[in-house]
Amino acid sequence: MKVLVGVKRVVDYNVKVRVKSDGTGVDTTNVKMSMNPFDEIAVEEAVRLKEAGVVSEVVAVSCGVAQAQETLRTALAIGADRAVLIESSEDLQPLAVAKLLKALVDKEQPSLVLLGKQAIDNDSNQTGQMLAALASLPQATFASKVVVAEGKATVSREVDGGAETLSLTLPAVVTTDLRLNEPRYVTLPNIMKAKKKPLETIRPEDLGVDVAPRLKTLKVAEPPKRSAGVTVPDVKTLVEKLKTEAKVL
Ligand code: AMP
Repeated sequence: MKVLVGVKRVVDYNVKVRVKSDGTGVDTTNVKMSMNPFDEIAVEEAVRLKEAGVVSEVVAVSCGVAQAQETLRTALAIGADRAVLIESSEDLQPLAVAKLLKALVDKEQPSLVLLGKQAIDNDSNQTGQMLAALASLPQATFASKVVVAEGKATVSREVDGGAETLSLTLPAVVTTDLRLNEPRYVTLPNIMKAKKKPLETIRPEDLGVDVAPRLKTLKVAEPPKRSAGVTVPDVKTLVEKLKTEAKVL
């Protein structure tokens, strides 16, 4: 059984992002980039399924610029067997990524596609759902537990007020939530081993996919700065200010 895992190269979650002065987007020059944290969880889950003997091959895929190879090498160091880079310098929006992944699903025929629930750069939370729709596959989003057996995936997902358990017939798309697992640290020997694992590069044209953006970003702006607070002498003044200044009472 083969698992396909989507990994996106994003600004590292520790970096405080800066908006470009012309308001067209986020400045990524000289900024540390890493694997999207939810995708690390997806790779970890796929590798655990392989270690448990449920899965025979883990294929990592990234769509984006040539530097996404580094992200794929990290996936290989965690334990993926091989990687595919769908190289494009276009601004790849979720629909374009979903179409590329659909084309790769047709080619690779995986039994399970594991993606993150969202990319922390655009917070879209769309790709898994769009892929499932385009490929006519069952989907379970925000997975906090995945059990694969006898051609089915049993997925627990956190919902308001409790946990929901779904049974999906494979092949299926599952997106990962934070509580699914804790990804391992990549060790130096595994980083060295990952350098020798196969990494294939293809282009959207090879898959016959048009990745032209469909959405136009009008403006990106920093959130307004918080103004300094004031200390009030007593509750009476506080209530007064809430009524007359904040107008929340
Ligand atoms: P999004 O819908 O953009 O929030 O992304 C959800 C998930 O889709 C991510 O966590 C990844 O697993 C996958 N994904 C999104 N963009 C890419 C990409 N460029 N390359 C590979 N996987 C991606």
